[in-house]
Formats: sequence, structure tokens, C-alpha cells
Amino acid sequence: MSLPSHLAETCALGAVNGEPIAQFEIGGYKNFVYLILDWETKKAAIVDPQTDLSAPLNFLKKHHFQLTGILLTHTHFDHIAGVPQLIKSYPDLPLYVHPGDLHRLEGKAFDPKPIRKLQDKDQIMIGKTQIEVIYTPGHSPGECCYFLPGKPPYLLTGDTIFIRDCGRTDLEGGSNEQMFQSIQKIKTLPPATIILPGHHYRPECASTLKKEIVDSLPFQCQSVQELSALP
Ligand SMILES: [Zn+2]
Repeated sequence: MSLPSHLAETCALGAVNGEPIAQFEIGGYKNFVYLILDWETKKAAIVDPQTDLSAPLNFLKKHHFQLTGILLTHTHFDHIAGVPQLIKSYPDLPLYVHPGDLHRLEGKAFDPKPIRKLQDKDQIMIGKTQIEVIYTPGHSPGECCYFLPGKPPYLLTGDTIFIRDCGRTDLEGGSNEQMFQSIQKIKTLPPATIILPGHHYRPECASTLKKEIVDSLPFQCQSVQELSALP
């Protein structure tokens, strides 16, 4: 079980022809911005857009992809920074977000429309690529992961799961109880699932669920108390 070569590096390599996921590291907070690419229909979605989107947008243009959605894992400022600029360029682009995180978009200078409100187990189609929404609160009350059940399967984890860590739970709306339940939910996915986090906090850019279940302390916790006691 190994990672696709463009995700097996310690620096994000961007898009590779034919691969369904492209990873870009953008901005001062080491955010990973992802493209989900349906090569057959040339439809694409962008996940957690940062402000400098020249690399992903140039790739889409060069390969004649049509952007059909903005997917948010949650609405902390570093995951939505690029939304205003995107909806200026693409005013009809739907923004997918869980209602539990909508409050941070209210009163912002931008007015995203249409908004598609996510629920656990929703299916989003980008061309012929199926994406399953997995509701994973804990870091943020409306946090979701995006699961692509292909071969290999991919999980875009936002700030719920990092390589060998989980997201912090001490921010507004955070909860150790919910984080523990979310981790249990993620554990039930196929072990070969490739974990793609929202930040580049470890040398690696990606991992597998099988490896994280063995190596990551939050996955080993048997109770909320154990999770809460982690440093
Ligand atoms: Zn966050």
C-alpha cells in the first residue's frame, strides 16, 4: 500500500495529468488547497481556497477544466481566504458548507450564492466523480471531511486530522467529545484511504489511514478522557 507518487513527497507537487486530486501548499499558514479533477468530463472543484490561486487556476485553464464548486471543510479564516476573489470571478459557483459553520460567513464583505448546505452522507458529483460528505465536528462545529471512494480512496480531512495528529478543539465551537466521535467515524473507512490534511504540519504531505491508525496518538485513544489528556 503506497501513496500515489505526486503525494509521496515532502512538498506539494500540484496537479499531475490523470490524477483525481491535486495538492497545493499556499499561504503563510501552510494551508493545503486541493483540486478534485474529473478528467473524463473536465469538471473540477476547489477545496478550501487560499488567496493566491494562480497555480490551481492556471492548471484548470491550461487543461480546459470547468470549475463547478467550492467545497469548504470549515470556515476558519485560513480556509476561506480565497472565496471572495473566486466568487467575484465565478459569481454562480456554488459554495458547499455545513450549516454549523455558516455563522462565520455572515457579515463578510462577500455574498456567496448559491450556498449548498451539507449534511452527513451527502453525495456531491463533480462530473462523474462521486464525493461523500462525512460530518466530523470537533475542531469546528460544522467541519466536514470529503471522501472519494475510488482506487485508492481519498479523504480530505481539513483541520480534523493532520498527519499523526488531530485538529485543536479549544477554539470557538470546538469539542473533545465530538472530535473523539469523528475520529471513530474516520477509523471505519478503508485502511488504504489516503489521508490529505488541511495543513502541511509534518514533513509528509499525505499518509494512509492504515499508517495513521498505528502511528497517530489521537487514533489510539480509547476514550474522550484519553483524547483530552493528549498534549
Ligand atoms: Zn481550522
